[in-house]
Amino acid sequence: MGNEVGNLQLVKKLNRIGILNIIREHNTISRQQLAKLTGLTPAAITGIIRDLVATGYVVETGFGKSSGGRRPVKLQFNPDSGYVFGAEITRKNATLGVVNLDAKPVMLKQYSIDMTEPQQGLDLLADEVAKMIIESGIDRKKILGMGVAYPGLVDITTKVVKRSSNLGNKWRDISIENWLQDKIGIKVFVENNSNAAALAEYILGRGKETKNMAYINLGEGISAGIILNGMLAYGFKGYTGEIGHLVIYEDGPLCNCGNNGCLESLYAVPALVRKANNELALYNQKDTLKAIWLEKGNVTIEDIIANANEANTYAWELVRQAGWYIGKGVAAIINVFNPEAIFIGGILAEAGNTLMEPLTESVQKHALPELIREVKIELSSMRKNTGFYGACAVAIKALFEGGGDALLDV
Ligand SMILES: [Zn+2]
Repeated sequence: MGNEVGNLQLVKKLNRIGILNIIREHNTISRQQLAKLTGLTPAAITGIIRDLVATGYVVETGFGKSSGGRRPVKLQFNPDSGYVFGAEITRKNATLGVVNLDAKPVMLKQYSIDMTEPQQGLDLLADEVAKMIIESGIDRKKILGMGVAYPGLVDITTKVVKRSSNLGNKWRDISIENWLQDKIGIKVFVENNSNAAALAEYILGRGKETKNMAYINLGEGISAGIILNGMLAYGFKGYTGEIGHLVIYEDGPLCNCGNNGCLESLYAVPALVRKANNELALYNQKDTLKAIWLEKGNVTIEDIIANANEANTYAWELVRQAGWYIGKGVAAIINVFNPEAIFIGGILAEAGNTLMEPLTESVQKHALPELIREVKIELSSMRKNTGFYGACAVAIKALFEGGGDALLDV
């Protein structure tokens, strides 16, 4: 008997989240259309809609056209019925913000937070969340979750972060979800940063147009988030897409992972900045980037990108070289996963055509012709803050999945 009640409640829950998801997917829809689409009785639909309107997730927005009889009431999802936090963390900086359930930002800020000390870094992040809740004026009850985009390996079975070669060696077996949840009292969902960015591109960007795509994140590391048949490709533990650790030069520099000559030990942002600062010291030609180096004593990735548009300059050559080798990694993704679209994102993507031309040429040279013919390779349509929006998308997706436990307290 108890079991039957349990099952009935589960069915009720699944019906409610199912109906809510159908309403979200449509601009407007009527109760009659919902009954037709789901096969539920009009009485059941009426009951579910009553609950969804009472909780604010659904609003009635006027009347549709009559097909004989009474005009149907139009129903719409209300994206301002709830909000989620999103955070993208990197070694020294964090992007934190709050968005509505359509991922429209209410607040978005950058912070300097040192994440090489996990607990200290997470505590500082939690403090900023608390401050932002107050500053945004959003009712605490309407904050339904928080997504975190993490630059390292996240075990999909336990949601524990295994390590991050970018954040340093103190990150070992840490549950960001538990740590933050305890501090801020909001349900937290953690995801690898490139997976999160791929999800943002897929749900909010031009990735919508395909079900098979990859997002290549060119930042402190180099990695890919891969969507196959409309789902993130996780593999056994969730560690897919680590193209930054393709060894392209066995005698190359030591990588953060412990190996030598990995793609990211040569062409991720920190490696490019290091290389530029070393080589500019010996660079004798008249050059805009060299002039900056002479003036400031060092150059940043922003300096490199700002000076990479003019042909035959040092920055131009450096970015082109990076594009060529990164193209080898992208070719490997194409050969293995056969995507329809590749989106290039992260800080280095700001170099635009200077990066994309050699990268595309390199892909054409290194991937199978049959696989390249159909694939579109373009800059990410989300551009800046993709990881942040990905973190938000992760939280929103989790809320609307399964029985919608975090969303509808049945
Ligand atoms: Zn490596």
